[in-house]
Amino acid sequence: MKEGVNFDDQVLSALFFADDLVLISRSKRRGMERMLRARNRFCQGMDMKLAVEKTVILTKGPTGTSWKVSDNDPILEAGLVGKCLGIDIQVKGRNLIKGQEEKMVATAQKYANAIIGLSRNGLDRAVAAHTLWERCAIPAVLYCSETMIITKGALDKLDKIQHMVARYILQLPKPSARVAGSMDAGLMQMKDRVATRTGLFVWKIQNKKTDKILKAVFVSVMRSPQDPWASQVKALKAAVGVHQLDGSKRLLKSMLKDVAVGNIFQQKRELTSLSCMPQPRKWFKLQDHVNDSEEILTLNRVRAGDAGLGNRRPNKGGQFYSHCPYCLSLGKAVKLSEYHVLLECQSVWYERTQFKVPKIPVNSPGSKNALRKTFQPNCNIQVATASRLSCD
Ligand SMILES: [Zn+2]
Repeated sequence: MKEGVNFDDQVLSALFFADDLVLISRSKRRGMERMLRARNRFCQGMDMKLAVEKTVILTKGPTGTSWKVSDNDPILEAGLVGKCLGIDIQVKGRNLIKGQEEKMVATAQKYANAIIGLSRNGLDRAVAAHTLWERCAIPAVLYCSETMIITKGALDKLDKIQHMVARYILQLPKPSARVAGSMDAGLMQMKDRVATRTGLFVWKIQNKKTDKILKAVFVSVMRSPQDPWASQVKALKAAVGVHQLDGSKRLLKSMLKDVAVGNIFQQKRELTSLSCMPQPRKWFKLQDHVNDSEEILTLNRVRAGDAGLGNRRPNKGGQFYSHCPYCLSLGKAVKLSEYHVLLECQSVWYERTQFKVPKIPVNSPGSKNALRKTFQPNCNIQVATASRLSCD
């Protein structure tokens, strides 16, 4: 049968998966009828039946066209929205998977609510919520995402939901920066998760013994200049280095991770409130220090630059401070921040010595180097410190 679409020398006329079947026809009426007849003959011979109520015919153009499958079955109507292997597909508008995007966001929200509800008491909430999110929610939400073009809007909605989980893990207040969640709760941003999946999917097609047809389809798609998925893969190749997608898988994984880390740093640099937040010891893992104790709540909030000092919103006592009240009483206007309290302010000098926090000569010319020595190797505050020192 010569129905179907042509990819190089491979004609693709049907996709089979267990008891699911997709028939592909180039001509709207005649081709589809021929294929349905063939399917009908097979089913009759094997004493099988098509689940007509679960069958959809997707076509562009005017709807209302109908197809007769067999004498006993009801007539099939052409529609604009269908489902294949659980993925919602539509042929109206420009975005083929808009329905799927909405489903992804709804699934993420459902999982996030369930995880927060389930892990509120009993187990350590940080570990429980992190594990459930990574092992159960993410695979369900990003199912098939390596083959999709997901809009920025949908990715942003997913990141927002993920940040809700991160905030819950770290016990951070609502306005805390997403970057803090990515770093301490170890949750990779959705854009980078999808990029990682896409990169590994392409690597597999290129380097593993995969199906001949899949390879032919891939080559043909990559050659078409207008295909949005092909452009996405090309952009990814450029970001990780062109040759990485056909080199070692381990190297590719680490390059993809570097891209994701770079994206987080770029956002972190724009946030002065995170200027003293050190790098995670291990990227995209729940940090070792995180648990649901009272002490860690404070530590997480300090690290995220949101300790409730009153500099970002009124503090516990309902007070709002833009400048450090202690320094102000001494006639010095210094912007209040976690950084100032922990490392500079004279009012907590005694506590600082008790906790053996190293003394930093803030205004001396060597201060930048002193800081660098103190915080390496597990800190990335040099850039932020330099800019702070010049503005304080
Ligand atoms: Zn002060």
